[in-house]
Amino acid sequence: MNVALMGPPGSGKGTQATRLAAATGYEHLSTGAMLRSEIEMGTDLGGNVAGLVSAGALVPDDLIIELVGPRALVASERGGYILDGYPRSIQQAEAVLASPAPPDLVIAIEVPDSVLIGRILARAAIEGRADDTPEIVALRLRVFEETTRPVLELFATRGLLQTVDADSAPDLVAAAILDAVHRRLRAQD
Ligand code: AMP
Repeated sequence: MNVALMGPPGSGKGTQATRLAAATGYEHLSTGAMLRSEIEMGTDLGGNVAGLVSAGALVPDDLIIELVGPRALVASERGGYILDGYPRSIQQAEAVLASPAPPDLVIAIEVPDSVLIGRILARAAIEGRADDTPEIVALRLRVFEETTRPVLELFATRGLLQTVDADSAPDLVAAAILDAVHRRLRAQD
């Protein structure tokens, strides 16, 4: 089964995607991790996106669609994918829906903004991510509300969206996500 895990920065979607991948065997595809690794390796793509990523802005749609599309297809053929951080704009969502391997389920992780900011700044102290400063975090939350929130509405109209309240312990959130996946699997039988 193909799953897209969506949520604002700091919602824990990366952690939850890793856990869901371990529980299901579906392949975890994180666009943020892919981009950070391109930047670290100093590839042309990495060079082109480094400024945007460190500023907390989205990288161009065509570039990210090309990066993820083929990997999502391969993962889907192997049993399923878990998209983490993609799609983040209406154009990306339309590309995913029109692809040969669209998501069967989209899970939105919802957390209050006040909790998000605290979590991201705590993560910044541990991971030292360049895009985790207070100003850039505020921008990334705004980008989520303005550009990514409409994607959730689009998936809701397609009957693909399940919302999980993530203002609780990671174990409870993981269980709620796995439950949503199992319910969708049963509905597909
Ligand atoms: P993340 O680790 O998912 O928070 O992503 C880190 C950064 O990578 C984002 O702030 C964007 O600059 C970039 N990025 C990741 N995924 C996408 C996407 N689907 N579309 C555009 N930019 C993205």
